[in-house]
Amino acid sequence: MSGIVVVFDFDKTIIDIDSDNWVVDELGATDLFNELLRTMPWNSVMDKMMAELHSRGKSVEDIEEVLKCIPIHPRVVPAIKAAHALGCDLRVLSDANLFYIETILKHLGIRECFSEINTNPGFVNEEGVVRIMPFHDFHTFSHGCSLCPPNMCKGKIIERIQATLDTEGKKTIIYLGDGAGDFCPSLKLTETDYMMPRKDFPVWDLICKNRHLLKAEIHEWTDGEDLERVLLQLITTIISMEEIKNNIDNTNSLFDYKFEKIAHETLPKPVYVP
Ligand SMILES: [Mg+2]
Ligand SMILES: [Zn+2]
Repeated sequence: MSGIVVVFDFDKTIIDIDSDNWVVDELGATDLFNELLRTMPWNSVMDKMMAELHSRGKSVEDIEEVLKCIPIHPRVVPAIKAAHALGCDLRVLSDANLFYIETILKHLGIRECFSEINTNPGFVNEEGVVRIMPFHDFHTFSHGCSLCPPNMCKGKIIERIQATLDTEGKKTIIYLGDGAGDFCPSLKLTETDYMMPRKDFPVWDLICKNRHLLKAEIHEWTDGEDLERVLLQLITTIISMEEIKNNIDNTNSLFDYKFEKIAHETLPKPVYVP
């Protein structure tokens, strides 16, 4: 295992579009969706939409079929598999929902590449209706972050991940995202982390306007091909930096040992080659 944790947003990062919009549009419920969005938070609208689709005779299988056809850039799955093969710990952090994300990742054959999916609960109830719940139950508790929607503060979740990294011996986070909701977590990244905002998308605009607020190194990307190139380049660079550092550490201890031995034998001082 490398010491790298890669955190992926889902919509418009792993997949190329927004999964909620895709399902609603494909199942012909766009008008109602837009109407409801005027009256309640996005996450609550999606739960209502699932009930509405059920009452219109759409089954769970219909929704799954639509999810399996979702557009994804052909280089994203190879990029994820390569990052996993290089020993990175991959996680999803998304404001979509567990039912969509697991259906899509399993269909793509990459569910096992991820150690953790942080998202809104999503499941099929006894009546065969998909239910979508908020990550934070904002009716009983406010996460208190003014940057984020009421159901999810990704910054709070990144802080939780960071708190566990020290105990797991991991040092570097690479975060990939496109949306305004990915700005809050980007502010929590440290000097040793990397932020990969999708160029010309909301998080990229926010970062350009507030660059001084970010401590992490920023590497933009445009599409799946670019994502693959930038991500794998970063990972291999970090890994080789770790290796060089470890070699230097080893050389030093070897040197100390030799030096001690030589000193004891009162031989001429060794010549240091830089
Ligand atoms: Mg997104
Ligand atoms: Zn937040």
